[in-house]
Amino acid sequence: MSEPKSKTIKLPAIIPVRDLAQLVDVSAINVIRKLMENGMMVSINQAIDFDTAAIVAAEMGFEAVLESQEAPVEKETGEVPMWRQTIAGEDESTLTPRPPVVTILGHVDHGKTSLLDAIRDADVAAGEAGGITQHIGAYQVELKGRQITFLDTPGHAAFTAMRARGAQGADIVVLVVAADDGVMPQTKEAIAHAKAARVPIIVALNKIDKANSNPENVKKQLAENGLMPDEWGGSTFVVPVSARQKQGIEDLLETVLLVADNTDIRANDKGAVIGTVIEAELDKSKGPVATLLVQNGTLETGSIVVAGNAHGRLRALFDFRGRKVQKAGPSFPVSVMGLNEMPSAGDVFQVVDTEKEARQIILERTEAAKQQATVAKKITLEELFSKIKAGEAQELNLILKADMQGSLEPIIGEINNLGKGEIRINVLYAETGNISENDVLLASSSQAIIIGFSVQADVAARRLAEKEGVSIRLYDIIYRLTEDVEKALKGMLAPEFTQKVIGKAAVLAVFGLSKGGKVAGCKVTEGEVRRNAKVRLLRGKDTVYEGDVASLKHEKDDVREMRVGFECGIGLKNFNDILVGDVIECYVLEKTEIE
Ligand code: GDP
Repeated sequence: MSEPKSKTIKLPAIIPVRDLAQLVDVSAINVIRKLMENGMMVSINQAIDFDTAAIVAAEMGFEAVLESQEAPVEKETGEVPMWRQTIAGEDESTLTPRPPVVTILGHVDHGKTSLLDAIRDADVAAGEAGGITQHIGAYQVELKGRQITFLDTPGHAAFTAMRARGAQGADIVVLVVAADDGVMPQTKEAIAHAKAARVPIIVALNKIDKANSNPENVKKQLAENGLMPDEWGGSTFVVPVSARQKQGIEDLLETVLLVADNTDIRANDKGAVIGTVIEAELDKSKGPVATLLVQNGTLETGSIVVAGNAHGRLRALFDFRGRKVQKAGPSFPVSVMGLNEMPSAGDVFQVVDTEKEARQIILERTEAAKQQATVAKKITLEELFSKIKAGEAQELNLILKADMQGSLEPIIGEINNLGKGEIRINVLYAETGNISENDVLLASSSQAIIIGFSVQADVAARRLAEKEGVSIRLYDIIYRLTEDVEKALKGMLAPEFTQKVIGKAAVLAVFGLSKGGKVAGCKVTEGEVRRNAKVRLLRGKDTVYEGDVASLKHEKDDVREMRVGFECGIGLKNFNDILVGDVIECYVLEKTEIE
């Protein structure tokens, strides 16, 4: 009997494991296993080159042929940021290309600032007006009659802060890697950020002027980190530059335009006006001054803008050279005057017809924020699972930090083995070291959970995690870690915190305070009420408030607790809508032991 003839499939020069698995119709785990058998340790999101993919395909009975080399840019998939939704709402025929917006990321001292300076200096057009004097957080350069917008605040925090608010960080990431130093922890972090945002990466291989630079070694490291250089058949452009000697800058800009041409960077300049706040500052004489980057539509003097919780009619617009302009279309950064207060960097802005409409939007926003504040939006394993069950999420994003490189690999292996079912596990980022603020930022903007193995979380990281509602889980034993992830996938995980009701109080009267606010005159009907505990305000079957006790008084004295049978005054934090007949339920959160 002759072997059945193998089927032919077309594969690109580089392909993520997940996509390959789909093409050859097996689970990603099987592909990962095959790769492991061949001595390659990859995660589901990592990309492998054609030759490797062909071997796997052959084992599955497929004959792989190389697809044409076009379209080197990663396809966009996944969640749609707000500005993209606006553009999706525009009629296709109205969309025209806009300048790409580029941000520069990379490890400290690899030359981000120097490169931004070199690019700015390389711009001939800037020379005419005596260069760029204003710093507004973004600038533009021109190459061959085309504009490129650079965000001038390098760093992961700025990029992620924008994404966390649903704004667009950038269309393209230029990743600076020093040729004498190679891929370092923050380089990996930047790759994770860009990948999570599904933004194409161009590598600027900097400091090639240095005698000890080793470009080939860096390319190898990049390939190992999922960025296969295009000269090796991959999809990542690696452009050698020297920011100090101003070499390769034009090549880099050309590459940006090339990648832009392969990415859908379009907008309707006559459409709904929406964009991102790049930065804002309070000027003593001008009042709040904000830099806005338009993503769709055209901003004009006199436009009424809502940006975060700020609003106002724009009195004046200035470009990055400090020149007054009347209009700013898509991808054009302008600094504006006329807002009533300072928005935050990363806020989305929009233009509305009337000031009344602007105030209404802000009112709704503040109300919604209040509501949210009462219900913590933790991205816990167990909550994620309920989302998965409800069909709202199909993947579990994890960020993994461990004490040693040697611990990371087995953990990733174990975790990948677990993601067999319908739920995909993405290890977004895995690195050694303590859990830092940056990890929390990445987790927050990617709806990920942070898992630490034999490491600690920095104080700043813990504080930020608390604020952003990011779940951090720490383990010292691998099987406990994998057990938890497995339980989460099966929906059996014990909650991180359990609520224990410790008492109830009936609201008998409501008093207004002279300094504003209200206090409930109560009688404790069960257990006790504690000053530092959490409370729920119940009205019939409804929970109308959930939050903290702001004050607890017995007659005129502040007290720490009040027992059953006693009368007391209870103030609720940021909440005054209390009615006679409501019940205040007091509870504490008890941590479920996971170690
Ligand atoms: P950042 O922390 O990534 O913003 O890095 P900087 O731009 O501050 O650069 C760090 C150091 O590297 C500075 O001392 C720069 O002068 C130096 N540097 C940056 N680019 C180059 C380069 O192309 N060649 C050389 N030799 N040094 C560079």
